[in-house]
Amino acid sequence: MDHDVLIIGAGSAGLSAALTLGRCRRRVLLADGGAPRNAPSGGVHGFLTRDGVRPAELLRLGHAQLAPYPTVSVQELKITGLDKIADGFRAAGTTSQGHAWVGTARRVLLATGVEDLLPPLPGFRELWGTGVLHCPYCHGYEVRDQPLAVYGRGKAAVGLALLLTNWSQDIVVVTDGPGHLTAYGRQRLRQHRIGLHEEPVAGLVGGAATGLRCIEFTDGTYLERKALFLHPPQEQRSPLAASLGARLNGKGAVWVDKNSQTSVPGLYAAGDTTPGQQQALIAAAEGNKAAICLNEALTKEQVSLPYTAA
Ligand SMILES: Cc1cc2nc3c(=O)[nH]c(=O)nc-3n(C[C@H](O)[C@H](O)[C@H](O)COP(=O)(O)OP(=O)(O)OC[C@H]3O[C@@H](n4cnc5c(N)ncnc54)[C@H](O)[C@@H]3O)c2cc1C
Repeated sequence: MDHDVLIIGAGSAGLSAALTLGRCRRRVLLADGGAPRNAPSGGVHGFLTRDGVRPAELLRLGHAQLAPYPTVSVQELKITGLDKIADGFRAAGTTSQGHAWVGTARRVLLATGVEDLLPPLPGFRELWGTGVLHCPYCHGYEVRDQPLAVYGRGKAAVGLALLLTNWSQDIVVVTDGPGHLTAYGRQRLRQHRIGLHEEPVAGLVGGAATGLRCIEFTDGTYLERKALFLHPPQEQRSPLAASLGARLNGKGAVWVDKNSQTSVPGLYAAGDTTPGQQQALIAAAEGNKAAICLNEALTKEQVSLPYTAA
């Protein structure tokens, strides 16, 4: 086998796992396939000792701290195929120069993250991470006491609007068509003085420099807002887990056991790819945990091999 562990994805989860495995003197290849999920954002908030650091700077620090560990290699490499073979996995990919790559590893850690599927309306993609936000824990403080909107329908939109009341008292739910709200949901919004707009949305007005300025409705009216929150649907950034038949949960996240192992023996997963809260620090902690579990599984395998005298 070329490597003890192939780590696919060099965001918070992958970098953290590589650090711990390097410290265990494991032969690791970290396949760095490109930008992390939060790349459009101006700062990573709530990350102990790094509150507000730019996403690219967090990754730069993560890479720099791998340098002292000689058994860790990092390669700009997108993994495109993964097969189970005796004693491990064979992976195929493409380097950043467009060259084909093939390698083998005893274990694989998927740290490939997720993709957010934004509404196909003008302004959502352009303002993603600045005026269009998904997480009050990541960005709520930066827009505290400002006029805010929640984009969504039904119970989920009501829940997100109520959650935001801790950051602002000026909140409007924008449902972009019939909101499918129950009488109880409408009552809860009224109780907390949260507005409701059920007109279809034409798009968002604003730009990189100004941020979000207003929401434009198809009837030609506008609503001034500083930020719009939504919980967009997600999909896995990589189909590798599904292609190996790994179990996914109802939301499409990669199921793992308490040792970070997927339902495919030897295939581990950490970070946003797996179920649960999605935060950079949590992803880093999950990467660290998966690395410990991987090292212990590899050690167990080694120490139970029959002894052969040289
Ligand atoms: C706009 C925005 C702002 C955010 N702000 C914050 C914040 O302020 N604080 C906070 O804690 N969290 C924040 N988050 C959440 C945070 O970005 C994620 O929780 C975190 O990035 C998850 O880390 P990860 O390593 O699991 O995935 P990612 O950081 O997404 O990294 C996955 C990596 O895998 C790579 N990859 C995917 N497929 C392949 C492949 N086939 N081969 C090789 N590489 C591959 C990707 O290119 C990517 O680099 C934000 C998210 C968004 C969308």
